[in-house]
Amino acid sequence: MRILANDGIDPIGKKLLEDAGIEVDTNNIPQEELASKLNAYDGITVRSATKVRKDLIDACPNLKVIGRGGVGMDNIDVEYAKSKGIAVENTPAASSQSVAELVFTHLFNGVRFVYDANRKMPVEGGTNFNGLKKAYAKGVELKGKKIGIIGFGRIGKETAKLALGAGMDVLAFDLYDIPATLPLELSGGVKVDVPVTKVSMDTLLAESDFISLHIPFTEKPVLGAVEFEKVKQGVGIVNCSRGGTIDEAALIAALDSGKVSFAGLDVFDNEPTPLVALLQHPKVSLTPHIGAATNEAQERIGVELANLLIGHLNG
Ligand code: NAD
Repeated sequence: MRILANDGIDPIGKKLLEDAGIEVDTNNIPQEELASKLNAYDGITVRSATKVRKDLIDACPNLKVIGRGGVGMDNIDVEYAKSKGIAVENTPAASSQSVAELVFTHLFNGVRFVYDANRKMPVEGGTNFNGLKKAYAKGVELKGKKIGIIGFGRIGKETAKLALGAGMDVLAFDLYDIPATLPLELSGGVKVDVPVTKVSMDTLLAESDFISLHIPFTEKPVLGAVEFEKVKQGVGIVNCSRGGTIDEAALIAALDSGKVSFAGLDVFDNEPTPLVALLQHPKVSLTPHIGAATNEAQERIGVELANLLIGHLNG
């Protein structure tokens, strides 16, 4: 059995596969060459870069399994693959903690202007130190503030736990049921159930000091001009979910008007080339879709994926 790990795989996951007698090729084959080369493999693992579309599936009748390291399956024609008898697996929970921590990286960064200081210190630090100090004098604490979480699934819940730990109130909106409390494990093994307030979208928009999105790709943005009209003055926005969930032009307008005080974005409409207006915006902090890019998440993804693939190929 042979697997092509086209977007890489954690070494521990690779070893698990090899120990199970499965050969693992970690060479990255360019997308345009895959149709002529992938049929030599029994399975492929991808992250978000490699696309496994209908035409590739049709070109590779030997393919038995497709593994996606991570959550979103937007880059795979899942139903078509399954209709051809190909198993499709992903690792939805492996990166939740890492993504939630990136949300807080953006939040702490946003309320203390770290993104802007990082841009200006190398240029103005020596000549305008006190001026910059003054510009960043109005930071705020997260403690005691309300965070509105849109999408209360795996990552939304992990984000809520961090928020509760930071002394924030959590307002949650989801299309489905939301638990009234979340179990929190503190150091020393102490467990507490902390309350979560389930609200309507309008209440979340009106009352949140910060809003974080944790929903899948949506055809129509969930935060657009109409929603930005309803938000609290000076709200901070974080999006570590999927491009397309925020209307980027409406966000820029809301940042320019001061309605939104800052935005921390890990995902964009047009990855990997976000709008220049976002890249250069003084109130926007950007990361290149790195929510799951931690050693811990990659190891969990690799191990989970390896076990799933072994189940299909050796089962
Ligand atoms: P999940 O399926 O566990 O949770 C998503 C939740 O959103 C569900 O509870 C669903 O009911 C809710 N939802 C869907 N549409 C909604 C809407 N319009 N309004 C309100 N709620 C809605 O998913 P998850 O594992 O928590 O992942 C959330 C998002 O994060 C996904 O888009 C995923 O692709 C993304 N993600 C990003 C990174 C990254 O690197 N930035 C890494 C992993 C996952």
